[in-house]
Amino acid sequence: MSANNWTVCPKCFSRMSYEIDNINDLLANEYGNISADGYLALVNKRDLLIQKKLPYEFREDYEIFMQKNGELYIRYGGSCSVCGYSKEFSLGKFMGEAR
Ligand SMILES: [Zn+2]
Repeated sequence: MSANNWTVCPKCFSRMSYEIDNINDLLANEYGNISADGYLALVNKRDLLIQKKLPYEFREDYEIFMQKNGELYIRYGGSCSVCGYSKEFSLGKFMGEAR
């Protein structure tokens, strides 16, 4: 069965952003305290992370449909093949009889 959509994983994106923030903190705190080469190595590492495009590894499957009895179903499932992060959601709600 094919996925409805593939997108960037929110957890992988958050981890990368956290890593960039940590390097920015290091750059701010260690300026003048580490060698110029060490500082530039950190700048290059940060810039590579910023330019890195995360692959679309987060699979999304979803459906929405109305049952004959008037119940509306919404189902969503997503999971990342890299870090294993996943989320599921479903809702069934009676919408009243059709007239
Ligand atoms: Zn992930």
